[in-house]
Amino acid sequence: MRHRVSLSGVQGAKKLIVSCAIWATGLSAQSPQRPASQPNVFLVTIDTLRADHIHCYGDASIQTPGLDNLAKDGVRFAQAFTPSPITNTSHISILTGLLPSTHGVMDFAVPLPSEYPLWAELLKKRGYHTGAFIGSIVLDSRNFAPGLNRGFDFYDDFPAVAPNKSRWERLERRAEDVARRAETWLTANSGGPKFVWVHFYDPHDPYDPPPPFAQMYKNRLYDGEIAYADSVLAGFVTYLKKKGWYDDSIVIVVGDHGEGLGEHHEETHGAFLYDSTLHVPLIVKLQNQKHAGRVVEAQVRTTDILPTVVDLLRIPPAGRFDGESLLSFLGVAAATETAGRTAFGETDYPLRFGWAPLRSVRDEGFKFIEAPKPELYNLRSDPFELTNNYAPWDASVQKFRAMLSDSKRKIRVRAPSAGSVSKNTIAELEALGYLGRADLASSTNVPEPSLLPDAKDKIEQLNLLHQAMIASEDGRDIDARAALERALELDPISPTALRQLADFELEAGEFAKAAEHLKRALALHFDDSVTAFHLGQALVGEGDLAGAREALETSLKFNPMQFDARLLLGQVCLDEKKAKAAEDQFEAALLIEPQNSAAQLWLAKAQMAGKNFTEATRRLEPLAKSQPQNADIIELLAQAYAGLGREDEAERANSRAKALRNNHKP
Ligand SMILES: [Zn+2]
Repeated sequence: MRHRVSLSGVQGAKKLIVSCAIWATGLSAQSPQRPASQPNVFLVTIDTLRADHIHCYGDASIQTPGLDNLAKDGVRFAQAFTPSPITNTSHISILTGLLPSTHGVMDFAVPLPSEYPLWAELLKKRGYHTGAFIGSIVLDSRNFAPGLNRGFDFYDDFPAVAPNKSRWERLERRAEDVARRAETWLTANSGGPKFVWVHFYDPHDPYDPPPPFAQMYKNRLYDGEIAYADSVLAGFVTYLKKKGWYDDSIVIVVGDHGEGLGEHHEETHGAFLYDSTLHVPLIVKLQNQKHAGRVVEAQVRTTDILPTVVDLLRIPPAGRFDGESLLSFLGVAAATETAGRTAFGETDYPLRFGWAPLRSVRDEGFKFIEAPKPELYNLRSDPFELTNNYAPWDASVQKFRAMLSDSKRKIRVRAPSAGSVSKNTIAELEALGYLGRADLASSTNVPEPSLLPDAKDKIEQLNLLHQAMIASEDGRDIDARAALERALELDPISPTALRQLADFELEAGEFAKAAEHLKRALALHFDDSVTAFHLGQALVGEGDLAGAREALETSLKFNPMQFDARLLLGQVCLDEKKAKAAEDQFEAALLIEPQNSAAQLWLAKAQMAGKNFTEATRRLEPLAKSQPQNADIIELLAQAYAGLGREDEAERANSRAKALRNNHKP
């Protein structure tokens, strides 16, 4: 039986200990003898949704009838906070009821450890049909969010190969598309209890609402995106009503984080832990609209959502939560909870740029942010967190520091699990506006975070880098370049700016300029294998073979598993007439990607350069068979035959290659 504590009067630190120590039995509020009910559960997460940009949260200038009506039918939590301003980390906290530092997914592509059960797993065990419908590739379970599909019968990942270059269906889906997919699945899986998670990504930047919202909100497109997502939410609720499911269902809507919108100089989200990005809307509509129209003013957390659902469904304990059921705020428990709960905030995003990670505590009207330059705000007199009252001797600072170190102690130390992100995945992340480098984003790489720069001193640079990425994605290369150059003026050794500018120069064929930027970036991070690889590319472009070889060898020393670097180094060796060394590199490339035909072809070329025509023929013949239309292969095979003195076959292959080339002439 869960141990209920009336939290009024219990001070913050104690509350934390209680909430972390409690094991969710799910049996707090109601009698355990009652049979388990199995209402449908619908979770809608709306990305980048600031609570104070919603009509029912007090913004009279925006129309959000979908959220407003749900709030009328349900319970609206006026003060709900996410522990993370980053999409996948925040969603995992919602779906596990755990703080980021507990579940450990503090960066993209980091797999969720299997010991933490997900919402869908808990419900699937109870006979639920489970489906997830995502609006952004950031939540794709095959690359950015491995493990997030656990427990889902159907998880609507993005296509492995993007159908076209457009942003839509490659990186994002419009809310309408997401809702349509969810409704199609629901219609096909109508029987039995259902848990469906729907994710609308639209309010995430770039802000690009469809008509009529683009016109209605033309000077504030972020709000236009919110109004649009809200209209799709309303449509989804209408669908649930049409199906006759709405009344009996639990419907939960929550934001994953907010948006800076220039407050504290932060344009988007991720770098800071202010309320602009941590305060989110949370609406819970219960079965038969129980407690309709109720507003809970006490501070709660998005980690409390899953414990609430477990409590409502009376699911037996499966592990611990950092959050606690919210039912105690609704007067169904012996003691109604009224005091706010301690809300922690955590972001490691600054580490991607080599800046210090941040931690925060929001409790009893105060916010403390632990940073190289720490901050303390009195939220009652200063709700926008504008006046920093930090003083090291301040009693509340000491109390908050103790709470933070107490929560840190509870975290099991695990080996750093850097996500394995492919090159395409990195490009997609950048296209989405997430920057920096995962290999820099490990707290284990830095001796003492407080010695790192404070993100507050770097935010203008981050905004410029972000603008550059969005401009580049839109094809506005001049704007992108200008933003990067301004970022370099602010910080001449910004590795991200140097690398991004070098990318532009490489693409433009300006190899000397690219090499210059890359050398500067490498001077700061000599073990940065990606930058060293790009320097190798630039030097190849310049015709500096010895320099290129050195850069590529350096790159491979720090990361031997880079296929492209192996392939390029092999080609450099071949140009330097070092056939054996070239063969070694192509063979190594084939160990990484055994089926890669470019590597096979290059290996055959190297073998021929070393006069080993027998091996080259043995390699090329099956290749020519499997790709009979590839003139390059056939031509090379002709040369191999010629090398072996098999003149007839050489001639036949040559004329075949010629015919293929003629056929392909435009
Ligand atoms: Zn997000």
